[in-house]
Amino acid sequence: MTANQETLRREILRRSVSETWDSALAEWDLHRIEFTSLREPEVCLCGHFPIVELCYLLNRHNGVEVLVGNVCVQRFLGIPSETLFRGAKRIMFDPSKAASQGVIEYARRQGWITDWERDFCESVIRKRKLSSAQLGKRIEINRRIAERVASARLNAVTKMEVAKTRGLP
Ligand SMILES: [Zn+2]
Repeated sequence: MTANQETLRREILRRSVSETWDSALAEWDLHRIEFTSLREPEVCLCGHFPIVELCYLLNRHNGVEVLVGNVCVQRFLGIPSETLFRGAKRIMFDPSKAASQGVIEYARRQGWITDWERDFCESVIRKRKLSSAQLGKRIEINRRIAERVASARLNAVTKMEVAKTRGLP
């Protein structure tokens, strides 16, 4: 076990109700993910710096929240955060692509999309050819999800950069 992994285990255990690792780990859910800017990175609970793919884990027994990097969550806690980040990145770069099942479910759970929008996304997930109305709807939904997965700071940076390339003030 690496020093970082040891730190992570200790810090998770300290904040858990259970005192044994396996049952302590089972208390934690992946509550929220967020991309932040490399200009304003965060610190993982294991002590690693910098991290930009942030996972907020919530302990469902005591309500404690911790911030852990995507790599540690996936590798040391065994929570499949990587697929969620990969899915989110895909629609951030190209909102005309289908959101993955995991991203759709996540967005619904967060209350970012309605039941109707979830059903719509799922119904066209494997369709190659969308009508222009369907494509427009997909892009609108994906942009909304992408904007919410990115931190407020990252959105501000992106908007500044977009404005710059367009020659806006
Ligand atoms: Zn870490």
